[in-house]
Amino acid sequence: MPRAELREFVESLGEPPYRATQIFKAVHQRRLRLFDDITDLPKKFREKLAERADISRLTVEQKYVSTDGTRRYLMKTADGRPVETVFIPAEGRDTICFSSQSGCPLKCDFCLTAKLGLLRNLTAGEIVEQIIIVLNDVYGEAAETPHGTNLVGMGAGEPFLNFENLITALRIMADEDGLFIVPNRVTISTAGIVPKIYEFAKLPDRPHLAISLTAATDELRDRLMPINKRWNLDELMAAAKEFEGSLRRGERFTFEYVMLGGVNDSPEDARKLARLLDKFQLSRVKINLIPHNGAEPLNYNASSPDAVARFKSTLESMGIDAYVRTPRGRDIYAACGQLAAMEKAA
Ligand code: SF4
Repeated sequence: MPRAELREFVESLGEPPYRATQIFKAVHQRRLRLFDDITDLPKKFREKLAERADISRLTVEQKYVSTDGTRRYLMKTADGRPVETVFIPAEGRDTICFSSQSGCPLKCDFCLTAKLGLLRNLTAGEIVEQIIIVLNDVYGEAAETPHGTNLVGMGAGEPFLNFENLITALRIMADEDGLFIVPNRVTISTAGIVPKIYEFAKLPDRPHLAISLTAATDELRDRLMPINKRWNLDELMAAAKEFEGSLRRGERFTFEYVMLGGVNDSPEDARKLARLLDKFQLSRVKINLIPHNGAEPLNYNASSPDAVARFKSTLESMGIDAYVRTPRGRDIYAACGQLAAMEKAA
């Protein structure tokens, strides 16, 4: 619950508004998971809360730990829907990759999550709770959230198809009486829900944006990411241009490009991508190249390291910053495009 709603709820139970702040801090800052553990509340009130409300709606079914330290959590909602969250450790800047939907309605051809279809949107509470569960598992309950924690909305689902709940969750997580993970530490990735890119650009407290591109022509993108048939590249790039206008000083935004062996990874593909950015005069962007994490039953292969290096240097020779993202947690089906509620590790 956002704080204002929590205050109304507390008042409806005949309690003073400051109780809402106590509860908010207990749930989000100390990350307590049972009303009974909030011992600064009177016992009678704790009992009343437990009758009327839940703190927790997710349960962890499985946890997989990769040889590289990445952890994948397979959770379930109270109504039995799968939710996946990934913890990616890195010196001083751990990242939590959360899901915005159970499954995904988009049908990106290279993504295992697509095989699930959409099960349902996650609530704001279910989005926030993923992060709380991971932080408690990694650092222990009540331990302070490390300052370097980053969030990426790149797990299962298309965040912009669950826009309202996503933004509510991000605001709850940014609260300094709570997790205090500020927008500057958060990146949301969209497959290209164009009207929401415009809406997102207008939010004063918006986090960073990544747009998953993966193809530089409509012909190829229609095939790889069918959402392109709804909003084509011209429409998507026009929205990206508008978003560029909202960038703060020193900020850039990202295009993600999943590298699929023999499909979109030739130097000519790189030149087409550079020309596309040039056509829309996009300059404050960087390209993240993501080697595909192929898994059965997808019919794609990862690009060879040589092809990735050639693609990157072609972009750079045309003045575009490109980075190769190191895949993490491939062995436990935690890497990009692999979240399909799989109850196994490799
Ligand atoms: S890549 Fe993202 S948007 Fe596309 S199907 Fe997979 S989860 Fe959905």
